[in-house]
Amino acid sequence: MSHSTPSAPSILAPFRIQPRFVPRVWGFRDLRPWYDRPEETEPIGEVWLTGDDCLVETGPHAGQSLAALFAASPASMLGPAAPATGSPLLVKMIFAREKLSVQVHPDDTMARKYGQPRGKTECWYTMAADPGARIACGLKPGVTLDRVREGIAAGTLEESLALLPVEKGDMIYVDAGTVHAIWPGAIILETQQNSDVTYRMYDYGRPRELHIEKSLEATRLQTGAGKMPARPGADRTILIATDYFRVEQIPVSGSRASSSLRDGTEPAQNLAYLFAAAGQARIVGPDFEPLHLPQRGVLAVPAASPAFTVENLGGLDLIRIAVNWPAGRRA
Ligand SMILES: [Zn+2]
Repeated sequence: MSHSTPSAPSILAPFRIQPRFVPRVWGFRDLRPWYDRPEETEPIGEVWLTGDDCLVETGPHAGQSLAALFAASPASMLGPAAPATGSPLLVKMIFAREKLSVQVHPDDTMARKYGQPRGKTECWYTMAADPGARIACGLKPGVTLDRVREGIAAGTLEESLALLPVEKGDMIYVDAGTVHAIWPGAIILETQQNSDVTYRMYDYGRPRELHIEKSLEATRLQTGAGKMPARPGADRTILIATDYFRVEQIPVSGSRASSSLRDGTEPAQNLAYLFAAAGQARIVGPDFEPLHLPQRGVLAVPAASPAFTVENLGGLDLIRIAVNWPAGRRA
């Protein structure tokens, strides 16, 4: 019996992903002007840009789910040296008309203890904010787990939360173990480890399930969470770079070659997503049909993508989200 030898991953051109509009009790029935859609029957709270169930919208794999494409072409999507398979990142827009639950996510170690592939570290890029908008990010200094437990029971947990004012352009890091809640008044682009594991601590009396014991197990009293200063560079602004993801604002005056999108510190082949926070773009390459990137749309740039050019069709604010791997798991 012969063993098949790994071959080079086949070329996979960039493709557009169809966003999924996900109902949430705390969302909006009308997402205009962010998304030009008629009023919804149910409130929409999240727009999943890269979820496992999102469909590929263009190219030879159109109609497949992202999960199916990751399963069928892991090396083309992630690069041959990726230390894991499956979609590593979930990117969403969050539209909160009410406060979200107070929640916490486990780290990788705790998630695996309970049979999940990974924990959830996330970050929030503020795309717009009302004056005075705030979010809850971490516990106030000196708060103990007992105090958190009492606050959950008495409905006074908010008194223990550290509140952070947010303005347009702010990037907030929320590492696993941070007690947090998104509040109304800010429109958020959320990048996170692709994990379902949310432990709800307190939900303002809404009838959704709580996970109090696991949330307390996951909670760390002090974490690295908070506002991250943007790092402007010669050819990009790094909004955040962590063990799991990097999020960058990429200026495109006229057009820009794909070879200049990748940061020098990244693997030569790496998965990234391109999101038009404002304006529109066209992606043009010799090996595929030109692709339109509409406002608030998202493209996947697989690790095995051929070269291409990004053209600014006007007002483009391009956000690039690239995969990072925890240091110990890098190939
Ligand atoms: Zn969260």
